[in-house]
Amino acid sequence: MHPHLAPETTPRAGTVGEDDTSVHELTDTETPRPRCGAGDGERITEWLRAVNCPDCLTPPSPFRPSPPN
Ligand SMILES: [Zn+2]
Repeated sequence: MHPHLAPETTPRAGTVGEDDTSVHELTDTETPRPRCGAGDGERITEWLRAVNCPDCLTPPSPFRPSPPN
């Protein structure tokens, strides 16, 4: 274990379906999904790219999952 490892990590990023221009922040789970909820049911392609989806970049909690509604 690495108790001194900073909890802050680079967000996982990926695109959804055929749209390879909108890069979403992915939830860090076994089956990552866009944080903004885009492309429900679509195939996720993970990239080492900067997130550019405005919904995914919206504060206040970029490193926490959205609270359930
Ligand atoms: Zn998004």
